[in-house]
Amino acid sequence: VPVTALLRRPADIIGSADHAGHPNIPLPRDLYRPRRTNSRGLEFGERAALDALVAAVAAEPLPAAARGVDATPEEANAAISAARVGFENWSRTPAGTRASALERAADLLEQRAAHFMALLQREGGKTLDDAQSEVREAVDFCRYYAAEGRGQFGDSKAMPGPTGESNVLRLRGRGVFAAISPWNFPLAIFSGQIAAALMAGNAVVAKPAEQTPLIAAEAVSLLHEAGVPSSALHLVQGDGRIGAALVAHADIAGVVFTGSTEVARTINRALAAKDGPIVPLIAETGGINAMIVDATALPEQVADDVVTSAFRSAGQRCSALRLLFLQDDVADRMIEMIAGAAHELRIGDPGDPATHIGPVIDVEAKQRLDAHIARMKTEARTHFAGIAPPGNYVAPHIFELSDADQLTEEIFGPVLHVVRYRADRLDQILQSIERSGFGLTLGIHSRIDDMVEAVIDRLSVGNIYVNRNMIGAVVGVQPFGGHGLSGTGPKAGGPHYLARFATEQTVTINT
Ligand code: GLU
Repeated sequence: VPVTALLRRPADIIGSADHAGHPNIPLPRDLYRPRRTNSRGLEFGERAALDALVAAVAAEPLPAAARGVDATPEEANAAISAARVGFENWSRTPAGTRASALERAADLLEQRAAHFMALLQREGGKTLDDAQSEVREAVDFCRYYAAEGRGQFGDSKAMPGPTGESNVLRLRGRGVFAAISPWNFPLAIFSGQIAAALMAGNAVVAKPAEQTPLIAAEAVSLLHEAGVPSSALHLVQGDGRIGAALVAHADIAGVVFTGSTEVARTINRALAAKDGPIVPLIAETGGINAMIVDATALPEQVADDVVTSAFRSAGQRCSALRLLFLQDDVADRMIEMIAGAAHELRIGDPGDPATHIGPVIDVEAKQRLDAHIARMKTEARTHFAGIAPPGNYVAPHIFELSDADQLTEEIFGPVLHVVRYRADRLDQILQSIERSGFGLTLGIHSRIDDMVEAVIDRLSVGNIYVNRNMIGAVVGVQPFGGHGLSGTGPKAGGPHYLARFATEQTVTINT
């Protein structure tokens, strides 16, 4: 039986209702995905609905793809000054009203899902499935933070105290937040940062990635339309220089950033060098994310989950799998199956619903990845080298390293690095994961509960996935964010996130 035939298995082999698919629909296989339970209105599973969605996305009239018009430093300063004024009103707007604006934004996003999916395809190179998930995630962020914010920011919390004294604790906005976001989730992370900061009572100056200005502009105008005052939310387009100008400004009260560790460090240094108040940084960065697969794992499931984790979204997720540790007695068979599954992936036009992997973001990204692949071809053992069509495409590659320490940086693309380990040397793997200093996502495939628990206990990693893939954290279900070199720790889409954007005030009254 060819290896790839093994992977075209009926959904019941996995045995999880979550993975139940529609076996009569031939493609795309990736639609057989867990339901996102806290979303509504964007699910589809039937061929007719899929066809309708594809047609709707294709028919969307779009503005010509554009580079953004970069803001000048003067314009960035003016946006901060205006936001400073906007903060005075917005921070006094009742939390319920702020939440309602976010809920209206979620409704509008759902209504215009096809439009935003088309934008995500055009500007971000997203496949249909990724674009749909991303719209859904943006909707989820708005609704989740609205619901959390109503509770956390609605009423002051009464604290216990002696008779004759009232003690309350309340959360309030800090001031003007700079929200600096990446191109890989130009709608979800962009609007998630903004929604959290706004819900917590801050005004926001948002700087999207320079690669995805159009999506950002449309998301901001949608938020304004939903009821966020234009004085409370400002957009400044531009590259890192504009981001640096925002961070350095005296009137910025907080920074939320998603991107590289290096830029997070630069921001941290710039904030530390400023006079005046100490300004907090909420940073989510990258990782050399590992998966550990022992001999008790189910090979078919491993193959599917590895391919999903390493290659979907062209590997352009912070959460993506970069380093796969395979127990040596099953390694050859696993590699063969993973390569077989990788071979099945279609790479090409993101507008075609059968496509699994679209283009990488730009020519610089392609050149960086091609250079890494060329280096790996000489320094590592090549197990799989996919073929990419012309254009900004990078095909999946699988390389075997003799030592995990050979991989010293995050490779942001569809390149999987495999390392074999002996069962009695598990500790060495854990040490090498710790040595990397990153702690974003970790996958474990094993049926040995003691081993799984010991690894979870030992490693300081933000998101751990056991016996499943390790991407696509769901808002309100898998709060997302990492430790160490992977970020300052706050979990987007989790119950403690909003408080990180706020100040706390205790009021004691002698009654
Ligand atoms: N939250 C996304 C996931 O779980 C990754 C976000 C990112 O790439 O920054 O896959």
